[in-house]
Amino acid sequence: MINSSILLKEYNLKVTPQRVAIVDELYSNGHMNIDELYKKLLEKFPSISLATIYKNVNAMVEKVFLNEVKIPDAKSVYELAKEEHSHLVCSSCGMIEDIMIDTSILQSSIKAQSAFKIQNVDVVFSGLCKSCQK
Ligand SMILES: [Zn+2]
Ligand SMILES: [Zn+2]
Repeated sequence: MINSSILLKEYNLKVTPQRVAIVDELYSNGHMNIDELYKKLLEKFPSISLATIYKNVNAMVEKVFLNEVKIPDAKSVYELAKEEHSHLVCSSCGMIEDIMIDTSILQSSIKAQSAFKIQNVDVVFSGLCKSCQK
């Protein structure tokens, strides 16, 4: 288990029980969308609103404490920010897996074809996870 309050403080984020709960959930589940976070937090804070979750998550994304992962044709998921990685997304069950790939080859092949200046790399592969292939 991580110490969520210390982590929040390190990122200059106000420590609230709701934020600690969000960090705890993301730590144990990896990636969650807003609805999943909302459902989980309702168990601890029955009067919490979806708007409050949004507000807290956005504040943490702004400080780059959380990372928003945009999933094609699905809701964005959030994760604790860590070193750059890509994502494998199962189009059948929605499973999301972190994968370390070297995107420098992709980036240099883009550079060879375009004057475009890459500022952010966000690679998502969609397909079927191992259990959905059966
Ligand atoms: Zn699957
Ligand atoms: Zn991830």
